[in-house]
Amino acid sequence: MFKAVWAEGRRSARTKPGRPSFIGLAGVAAGAVLAMGGLVSPSAAADRPTGIPILVYHRFDPAVAGSTTVTVAAFEAQLTWLAKHDYQVVPLHSAVAELNAAEPRSKAPVAVITADDGHKSVYTVLFPIIRRAHIPVTLFIYPSAISNAPYALTWAELQEMQASGLVDVESHTYWHPNFKVERRRRTTADYAAFVDNQLSRSKTVLEKKLGRSVDLLAWPYGIVDADLEAAAKRDGYGAAFAYAGGPAAAGDDQLALPRIPVSDADRGERFGVMLGTRTRARLEP
Ligand SMILES: [Zn+2]
Repeated sequence: MFKAVWAEGRRSARTKPGRPSFIGLAGVAAGAVLAMGGLVSPSAAADRPTGIPILVYHRFDPAVAGSTTVTVAAFEAQLTWLAKHDYQVVPLHSAVAELNAAEPRSKAPVAVITADDGHKSVYTVLFPIIRRAHIPVTLFIYPSAISNAPYALTWAELQEMQASGLVDVESHTYWHPNFKVERRRRTTADYAAFVDNQLSRSKTVLEKKLGRSVDLLAWPYGIVDADLEAAAKRDGYGAAFAYAGGPAAAGDDQLALPRIPVSDADRGERFGVMLGTRTRARLEP
């Protein structure tokens, strides 16, 4: 049943993000399949998936949920759901390569787990779980907070997680600015220099501290436009990620690939429908 929902969502996901007509159709289609008890043709279920859900998390807590905090019970329920429905969790770089592949590499559905902002619970709560389950994760980090802000990870923790081979550390700019605000209060030239500094300094610091190349970027608050995309390209990023929008599909803008924010309430059927449904762009809280 869920595979069918997934196939429906993925086919629809060829449409560009943010189109209201699409959102309605995908939501109705997925809901209808669920309501009807999963009556779908075998061919629909067998379609090669054309989109990849790239999940976004922020904080984890053993028991207490929050607006951007997922409990261990919810996270484990989500992992179980993925496994039960034959999803393979793959590294983000593999997903990007899959989206760009001329030919399908695999018929198996794949999903990606990312966590933004470098909260310390990524080390204390998430890391033990993914190590036990051997699941790859990408962290989007803004280096100004690391070994600095009380809520943030340390460089030693990032290095340890990276050494496990399961954790990939990528850029979330240098100090997580709101580019809309910065654009308003700076001159054009100053703003352009500020953007380049945020993008290149983050990349440089992460590469120096962690000893490997960084070429993926998550836009702070999900704010992205053509100028920001041009800067990302100029500053050496191969792909960049929005905050919301649903599963990423072949043909999507490589510098604003959609992701799926996950909350504590997203379990069971609700989680399954979300994985296959394109939505309006939404900003990070
Ligand atoms: Zn963020």
